[in-house]
Amino acid sequence: MTASFLLGIMIFLVVINFLLDTILDYLNDRSSKNTTEPKVKQFYDEAEYRKSIDYSSEKYRFGLFDSTVNLLLVVAALGLSWFALLDELVREYFSNELVISLAFIALLSVISSIINLPFALHYIFRIEAKYGFNKTTLKTFFADRVKGTVLSLLIGGPLLTAIIYIYQQIPQWFWLMGWALVSGFSLFSFMFGTKLFLPLFNKLQPVPEGELRDEIEKYCKSQGYAMSKLYVMDGSKRSTKANAFFSGMGRTKTIVLFDTLIEKLSTPQITAVLAHEIGHYKRKHTLAMFLLSNLQTFVLFALLGWLLGNSLLSEALGATEPSFHIGILAFFLLFTPVSVILGLIDNGLSRRNEFQADKFAIDTYPNSSEHLRDALKKISTDSLANLTPHPWYVKVHYTHPPILQRLAKLS
Ligand SMILES: [Zn+2]
Repeated sequence: MTASFLLGIMIFLVVINFLLDTILDYLNDRSSKNTTEPKVKQFYDEAEYRKSIDYSSEKYRFGLFDSTVNLLLVVAALGLSWFALLDELVREYFSNELVISLAFIALLSVISSIINLPFALHYIFRIEAKYGFNKTTLKTFFADRVKGTVLSLLIGGPLLTAIIYIYQQIPQWFWLMGWALVSGFSLFSFMFGTKLFLPLFNKLQPVPEGELRDEIEKYCKSQGYAMSKLYVMDGSKRSTKANAFFSGMGRTKTIVLFDTLIEKLSTPQITAVLAHEIGHYKRKHTLAMFLLSNLQTFVLFALLGWLLGNSLLSEALGATEPSFHIGILAFFLLFTPVSVILGLIDNGLSRRNEFQADKFAIDTYPNSSEHLRDALKKISTDSLANLTPHPWYVKVHYTHPPILQRLAKLS
């Protein structure tokens, strides 16, 4: 195989991926405007329904613009050897291979976050704000970005340095040691992430004294779940959308309820949502998903170990010298179909887990099906959810079942 043929495959994959995604988005947009669904009336009045369609459509059009710009940039970068140019630029300043790789990856991340910035700003401060969801101030937005960058420098930096160092010093063991490092770190953040990192972005507090706390405490006791592992988070700092999640395992398990959820729902509804989250814990969903993603990382590193040393990867991107950073970039472009398939599996399992957690709530909290149904209805109406997403779009993008499917199982 020649380098230019390989480059052709990469461009082909990028374009095909874009086309498939665009077709899915288009089908989903059409499906969101499907006015024949009779259940719509249980959710929205005429004006709200119009608004929900406008919201979906606006996100669709903006997404299309965003992905088209991205496609053009990536194809231009591939066709005009921009990655090789960046590599040469870095090589003018540094001579150590490890430093060159780190500088290249850092520069590329800076460039891509600069390109992404206006899109993120528009999405939050124009679209989300227009429909009344946004609560983020510019100050919070930029503070989040700065904190995110510092965190990834402090954690991602050393991790990446170690991986590249191993790759350069003992290439034959790179795949196994690289995997061990990454899974060690992901185990750490799986267990302590919520405790260590979330407080940097949000305030976490115990559930306030009162009727709600009493009811929650009663339920938690019946399930042997400690109240000290339950927090209310100031989600309202960024968005009016309500949410809740479970994370960690064993002693580091944590359930987080957004303050927006507490504000919108009644006590039994909140407790039913909590019962759903405890269902994720009892059914070991997060642990299973963590193990699965670790297995996927293992496969990824095995493939990396096999292919990364091949100088054809760097040549395909126009680089004269084979290197870790150019090789890995080429690898991930070729890896696109695999990651699409892995995403399908992950999302399918995640949607199945949601049904199981709903079932758990019904089995363990009295009248849960009614309370959970009302809670889900309220949450989806308030976030102008698309009630009729296209089934293929759901398969590819949805981590939660579409609301109507979920309600059907609850009744
Ligand atoms: Zn869930």
